Amino acid sequence: MKKTEQLYEGKAKKVFATENPDYVIVSYKDDATAFNGLKKGTIAGKGVINNKMSNMLMQFLEKKGIHTHYVEEIDDRNTVVKKVRIVPLEVIIRNVAAGSFSKRYGVAEGTAFSAPTIEFSYKNDDLGDPLINDYHALALNLATAEEIENIKKTAFAVNEALKEFFRALNVDLIDFKLEFGRFKGEIVLADEISPDTCRFWEAGTWDTTQHTSLDKDRFRRDLGGVEDAYAEIFKRLTAGE
Ligand code: UDP
Repeated sequence: MKKTEQLYEGKAKKVFATENPDYVIVSYKDDATAFNGLKKGTIAGKGVINNKMSNMLMQFLEKKGIHTHYVEEIDDRNTVVKKVRIVPLEVIIRNVAAGSFSKRYGVAEGTAFSAPTIEFSYKNDDLGDPLINDYHALALNLATAEEIENIKKTAFAVNEALKEFFRALNVDLIDFKLEFGRFKGEIVLADEISPDTCRFWEAGTWDTTQHTSLDKDRFRRDLGGVEDAYAEIFKRLTAGE
């Protein structure tokens, strides 16, 4: 499948039309941003890793019965996906307190929850992606009640599948962000699953005072070893192939 015109350029990806109106090509860049675009940089090789990792995980989730946008990997940085209409919600699942949760609620990073938690943000850069609840999403007509129920159920199912998957790689899945889209009347998992959108901590070595991040926090927090962290998680992911 070939790219025709560019439809969109985001912070980390470009999206191109194809000859098939049902499909687009996503092209992953090495560009990285954080704090709603305030911090900018490049993570060499990130585009390749995020493309391949996201594709592997989408295919893994499909096997678990989760419907995704994935169609076909073209090359290192380019993938054909279903042309969805994105539901303007960022869906965040957390297993352990970190990041904005810790800040907002005054809970030490590394505090494990007895059960996973979910939250929604309204995808709107001008407003800084504000935190909202189900009722706000309905009031704003972002999704129907049925869609929200489906999204919640699917997000928790993704969490169970991914937690187990990463546990086997000696990695704890702390939290992650998902996006969903509508394709031919169906809700499908879209966007990406990568170190840009997940917190991955080295298993067994963390508590509320320390942890080793194998994700974008190394970039956000200037921890160094950003490229190495992406390469390490990708190495573990592909070791069994
Ligand atoms: N996240 C993301 N995009 C966003 C905000 C968050 O992919 O715009 C991911 C982030 O990588 C982490 C999880 O969602 O895995 C929870 O992020 P949090 O709300 O703690 O925000 P942050 O501390 O990153 O600002």
